[in-house]
Formats: sequence, structure tokens, C-alpha cells
Amino acid sequence: MTTTTDVKVSEVKDLTRVERIGAHSHIRGLGLDDAFEARNVSQGMVGQKAARRAAGVILELIRQGKIAGRAVLLAGQPGTGKTAIAMGMAKALGEETPFAMMAGSEIFSLEMSKTEALTQAFRKAIGVRIKEETEMIEGEVVEVEVDKPAAGGVSKTGKLTLKTTEMETVFDLGQKMIESLVKQKIQHGDVIAIDKASGKITKLGRSFARSKDFDAMGPATKFVQCPDGELQKKKELVHVVTLHEIDVINSRSQGFLALFSGDTGEIRSEVREQIDGKVAAWREEGKAEIVPGVLFIDEVHMLDIECFSWLNRALENENAPILVVATNRGITRIRGTNYKSPHGIPIDLLDRLLIISTSPYTEQEIRKILDIRCEEEDVEMSEDARDLLTKIGHETSLRYAIHLINAAALACQKRKGKEVEMEDIGRVYSLFVDVKRSTQFLMEYQEQFMF
Ligand code: ATP
Repeated sequence: MTTTTDVKVSEVKDLTRVERIGAHSHIRGLGLDDAFEARNVSQGMVGQKAARRAAGVILELIRQGKIAGRAVLLAGQPGTGKTAIAMGMAKALGEETPFAMMAGSEIFSLEMSKTEALTQAFRKAIGVRIKEETEMIEGEVVEVEVDKPAAGGVSKTGKLTLKTTEMETVFDLGQKMIESLVKQKIQHGDVIAIDKASGKITKLGRSFARSKDFDAMGPATKFVQCPDGELQKKKELVHVVTLHEIDVINSRSQGFLALFSGDTGEIRSEVREQIDGKVAAWREEGKAEIVPGVLFIDEVHMLDIECFSWLNRALENENAPILVVATNRGITRIRGTNYKSPHGIPIDLLDRLLIISTSPYTEQEIRKILDIRCEEEDVEMSEDARDLLTKIGHETSLRYAIHLINAAALACQKRKGKEVEMEDIGRVYSLFVDVKRSTQFLMEYQEQFMF
């Protein structure tokens, strides 16, 4: 990354968006078996079996590299699990697969151009797996000598002798290493690994037990000879960052702290070009790999014709993430034109889409999802209260019912109850109105003033 830090710093503002990922923390995959059949309840997923199965087939296309130039459209009513399925796909592709989400309407509410917002969203969904080699030495602790601190207190220096099959190596111990030895209760005879570069110590196991514990706080301690350890090893450390994170780090004066400031703005194309060049070089040297993630764009009908053209082009890029878009609209006008089209999406993009529809949940499925969310949020709830909440979810929306879980738990806490009861649900149901009631109230109010 050194070559990109000399790029002239421009104040970059990050894409602001409401993080809604927490609502899906219970989703750990698509819950499919080996034959792509959806299990009833699995990996946090409930029902919606046809859509999950279809998403599973798409995952297979992705794995076989046959998805290039195509995207997925999830069509269904609000709260039917479109976001949950997109996230399930990302999780099923692997823990480190990046998942980015945005709503189509965000494009118009930001202090940046539409294409910049889309570019940022795309780059948030492209991971770079960076491989670093570190030299580790594994062996058995033969001897640890900790220097006696001058004025009592904690030892700051010392020596550790490690026996490998070939030789004994003596390490100078610093305060951090001593603290690490104490914390991990490392004793003579333990097999440990020391990272040569960072000095990080990892306890790997123990070959034979000795009675005397190593106490780094006390005076110098010696341990006796032990059997052979293992040879020095090279280990690969791997971590995944997104292209967007690399962009931000290299665009701001404050370095990585910039990631947390979260204001919006554009990243200069020169910065991105340099980064792309650098990543391409790393890939050639075998130091990095691209990890395509999943980009989920909700309310895709809110995008306009320019955005759709941009998406069409971007899908051709070899590093493009898997694009999953969602809508609850049937035939509607394509923004920026006078034409109507299915889902408000132009025909040329529609042609590229694999369409999956989602359907409303049964009462039983709602109950199961609410049970999972209660567990996820660590909320104890009585059977009666769960029944009531399920009824509310069925009659209003699943989202609304999920929101009430935490609020009801607070109401329960306030009355010093042990578990959420019907009265708590009733209380928050009257405090927070659902959409139907809030509009009804306003409509009745309006009528009073209409003549
Ligand atoms: P919208 O169109 O309003 O964005 P949506 O179709 O994306 O809605 P979600 O946000 O995925 O719906 O669903 C609402 C809540 O219900 C989320 O917390 C989600 O994780 C959960 N959920 C939805 N479907 C399922 C499912 N099949 N299994 C488990 N949890 C689900």
C-alpha cells in the first residue's frame, strides 16, 4: 500500500447509510441440504423454501463461474425475507465474503454523484484477500529466566529458551512477551509458537506435565530440559479487506481512522486507478486474491435510467460482485424516462436478471422467525406473549413485530419482570403504532377538517 499513500490527499466522505445488517444477525446461510433442498428451519432461515432453493442454484452457478454478466432480482412484498436471502447467499459463500447493502433511494440523498455512490457500493462488495508470510518457530519451552525487577513490581525483561529438533534458540523477552506468557499460563514443557517478526506467542499444547508453575512476577525461574520440539515453520496469515476500505485509507490524511468518521464524499479516480494497479500486481505475485462479495440493492425501482446503464456496464467487469436487487413493484415507470417497465427496470437489464419471487409467511413461520429473533436478542418471552406477537406480526408486518421484541423487553425490565408477558407486548403495541394504524389515525383526523 506504500505506493498509494503518496497520492494527494482529498477529503473523502464515506457513503452514509443506515446499517440494517443487525436485523439479520441470525442468518448464517441459506439452510440447504446437499441436494439444494431447503430445510424447514436451518442456519437461521425459516420457510420461503422455493426462493431459498433458487438462491442455492444461483450459488452453484457462482461457484462454477457461470454468473458473469448476470444478476439476481428478488421480487416480493416487504418483509418477505429478500434482504435475509441475499445475506444468506453471502454467508453461504464463506464467512469472509463481503456483503454490502444499500437502498435505491440512497443514491439521491447523498452529497455525491449517483455513479460515485454506486462505485462505492460495488467496491464495498469486493474483497481482497491479502496473504502475508510470517516465520514462526515452534518448540518446547526449555528455560525461562525473568530478570528481577529493580524496585519490585512486574518484570520487564528476560530470556526464553526454545528447543526445536535442530537447535535451541534463545529469545530476549520484552514486557509484552512476559505478560503473554503469564496470561497463557505457559510453563516449561509447553509447546509454543513464536512469531519471529512480531514476537507474538501462541500456546499450542503441552507434551508433558511439570508441577511447578512458571511465575513471571517473581525472581528468575529456571526450567529443565525437555524432549524434542518441532521444526521452524512458515505460516501464512490471511486477511480480507474490501476495495472500498483500501480506497478510504489511501484517500484521507488520518489514515485508517478515516474509516470510522463516516461522512460522505467522492474518492478521486486517480486513487482508485493506483489501487487497482497495486492489487493487480499483488495478484500476479501471488500475494492477493479477489473475493467477490454480494451487493444487495433494495428498492431497485428507485434507481434511474443513468444508474441502470451504469449497472449494465459494471456487471461486465471481471471483478464485479454478485449483484442482488430487490423490489416490491409490479409494472412501474422507469425513473428518468416516460416508459413503464416490469419492476421499473429497463429491458436490457431485465434480460440479465435471474428472477426469484418471495411470498408472504404463514402464521407458523412468523412464529418461528420471532422465536429465533428472541433467542438472538437474548429475550425471555412467555408462550402467551409469543402467541400475541405472532398475531400482531401476521396482521401488521413481520418487521413491526420484530421491532417490538426489544421494546417489550425494556417494558418488562422496567416492571422488574422475569420474562416478557402479554402486558409488555400490549404496552409497546399501544406506544408504537404500525403503519396501518398510523395512516388510519391521520386519515380520520383529516376527515374532521374536510367539508
Ligand atoms: P423490505 O422489502 O421491506 O426490505 P425484505 O423482504 O427485505 O423487506 P427482510 O428485511 O429480509 O425483508 O425481513 C424482515 C425481518 O425478518 C429481518 O429481520 C429478516 O432477517 C427476518 N426474516 C425474513 N425472512 C426470514 C426467513 N425466511 N427466515 C428467517 N428470518 C427471516
